[in-house]
Amino acid sequence: MLLAVLAATIVGVTVGGLLATVLSRRTVDSAHATPVGPSASEATGSSVRDAVDRLEIGVVMFDSAGDVTFSNSAARVMNGTHAGLIVNDHLSQVVKRVRTGGAWSREIVLHGPPRQIIAIEAKPLPRGGIVATIQDVSARALVDAMRKDFVANISHELKTPVGAIAVLAETIADERDPTVTSNLSARLVDEAHRAIRTIDDLLELSRIETKVPADDCVDLATIVDLAIERGKASALGRDIEITALDPGDPIHVRGDRRQLESALGNLVENAVKYSHDGGAVQVRVRVDEPWIELMVADQGVGIPARDLDRVFERFYRVDKARARDTGGTGLGLSIVRHVAANHGGDVAVQSAEGEGSTFVVRLPARLLVTSADSERKPLAAAREDGRE
Ligand code: ADP
Repeated sequence: MLLAVLAATIVGVTVGGLLATVLSRRTVDSAHATPVGPSASEATGSSVRDAVDRLEIGVVMFDSAGDVTFSNSAARVMNGTHAGLIVNDHLSQVVKRVRTGGAWSREIVLHGPPRQIIAIEAKPLPRGGIVATIQDVSARALVDAMRKDFVANISHELKTPVGAIAVLAETIADERDPTVTSNLSARLVDEAHRAIRTIDDLLELSRIETKVPADDCVDLATIVDLAIERGKASALGRDIEITALDPGDPIHVRGDRRQLESALGNLVENAVKYSHDGGAVQVRVRVDEPWIELMVADQGVGIPARDLDRVFERFYRVDKARARDTGGTGLGLSIVRHVAANHGGDVAVQSAEGEGSTFVVRLPARLLVTSADSERKPLAAAREDGRE
């Protein structure tokens, strides 16, 4: 999406100059035009007009008196709409400014719905007149806002444990009592591990977001075993039973083994973290055409209905104090969501506060590896199909 926005911006910046050059050259050349058929520059001029007409960016040209001489279809389509009225009003103000000197641009917010941010830019043309571009930059603005938010979140998430490490280290340096020193050291180690977990999860998330998933043949039973091992390690001393329901026949899928391990591991670890001592966690994989389902269910604290939509967001936690106690990074479910999407699937949750939660990752059954494997599509093709 970012690339598309960038491309659109570049086109927006260059198109005015190109059109202006062709159109003004056409005026000069027309004095020497042959009487039969269009000249080369006329032909070029009309094909540039056709091309500009097909752009998603609105392009409007004005003569030196400020009257419109050309507008492409993206600009014309706004005519008569409420948004068009607002844009036109700003456009004429911008053009007025340009007539009194220099280029001018502004961004306007249309409250909608949908909320849109429109960038208007106008420049004088070398041979007189003005060219203006009108561009919907809502997507770019959203990406910018997300990036800023993300950086602020990471800074906050890392500042907390690193700040604690600094304070603890200073206190230890001045402390003479070995018992207190030992307690402080244990807390220091905890905080250091918390920072490491956050960095590890960030690296994992970044790998999952940026790398093309591998095309392994994955036995889901081994993924379940690994996830249960991970769950048992974090359930130590809490008497939590983790069981896997037998899927019957072995299930093999085409997918990224590491990503699938990470997703199911995160879900089982969460199920343990948010279970009460003595609780039970169940893991089940099954084929339910057109899906392969990986399910993790617990009888723990559950998730309030108002938070269900948000738990997959980065750094979102229902209960911040509890997340601190459990050592959560707030990134586990984002990782799960990305892994599911990378495989052409999705993830859903059902939960009731105080009763428990069930997470289900669904992968397209196209990823199944059967004895007639050669008929199955590789991961990339299956992902593409999932988008259709
Ligand atoms: P964390 O590292 O904090 O567990 P996650 O991204 O894995 O971060 O989960 C986001 C939030 O969703 C958690 O902080 C928790 O509030 C909630 N959550 C996730 N899994 C469960 C679960 N099985 N039961 C209850 N709440 C859960």
